[in-house]
Amino acid sequence: MMLFPATIAGSLPKPAWLAETEKLWPKWLLEGPALDQAKRDAALIWIKEQEDAGIATVSDGEQFRTHFVHGFLETVEGIDWNLKTKMGIRNNRYIVDVPTVTGRPKRSRAVHRDEAAFCRSHTAGKLKWTLPGPMTICDTLADGHFGRRADMAMAFAEILNEEALELEAAGVDVIQFDEPAFNVFMDDVKEWGIATLERAARGLKCATAVHICYGYGIEANLKWKETLGAEWRQYEEIFPAINASSISQVSLECANSHVPISLLGLLPDKVLLVGAIDVASTTVETPEKVADTIEQALKQADAERIQPCTNCGMAPLSRAVAAGKLGALGKGAELARSRHAAPHVAESG
Ligand code: ZN
Repeated sequence: MMLFPATIAGSLPKPAWLAETEKLWPKWLLEGPALDQAKRDAALIWIKEQEDAGIATVSDGEQFRTHFVHGFLETVEGIDWNLKTKMGIRNNRYIVDVPTVTGRPKRSRAVHRDEAAFCRSHTAGKLKWTLPGPMTICDTLADGHFGRRADMAMAFAEILNEEALELEAAGVDVIQFDEPAFNVFMDDVKEWGIATLERAARGLKCATAVHICYGYGIEANLKWKETLGAEWRQYEEIFPAINASSISQVSLECANSHVPISLLGLLPDKVLLVGAIDVASTTVETPEKVADTIEQALKQADAERIQPCTNCGMAPLSRAVAAGKLGALGKGAELARSRHAAPHVAESG
């Protein structure tokens, strides 16, 4: 087994011919069949870029949807997109007009199955697909039907599970649920968040991952992070519950992060997707910097459990910066492998 197989947390920038660039909620620049074709072209480019960068588990870079939550929900029944409710999401970190849930959610069709099959047919490597997690979906929609967030989350977990099983059948190797809401509502995570996540992953035989994070490097997040103090210990409350769950991999940010690396010690039974690329900075890391972050993680976990990753999605970055960071991630993982193979060789003198 190759040590330190690299992967990415999820999104990559949309090419300028596909959608507005450097935005979290971009508009598509095409429509109809031309848009469908352009999304596939963009996914192909990013698969190739990832493979060339030495990324072991590649993804579509979320080229098939605009926002990571609403993009998945667009064709789901039970949501009124015209009934907008102003809501402070992630515990009032951003105020957004969100659509309203007016009935039990139901998939009108498979959302990403055909797209996953397309990506599968264009890479021989491992393929990851990301989906929004049930709690994060519920924190990005207004509830006009259920009355209890836990009930709404469980209903969405059921349709996520239908989707995930189809993605697995299409040849996806890793299904990752994105739960940035997990470090905001820590009590809810323990009360019902993990249960809904496990419901979403029920019956999957492929690897399953959860990505928790402190968000994209956008203004509202940077301000929020300033309020969290020198050490971010939110994960301390939820990691024991996540470690006890059936989810096999945990993605978290370790590059330029205030999360104490020692918290990795609370996940002794999980594969760790160690964020070694800072998505809040446009500076491309050096391979040495990436390898240093992996070395820090090695103090907390065996090499066999570490997969170098990005801190979060790279959608808001420029395409050139994202490509540069992919290269740094792949080279950094390679450097970490060579350091690990010969740990006693002096680097100088
Ligand atoms: Zn993230």
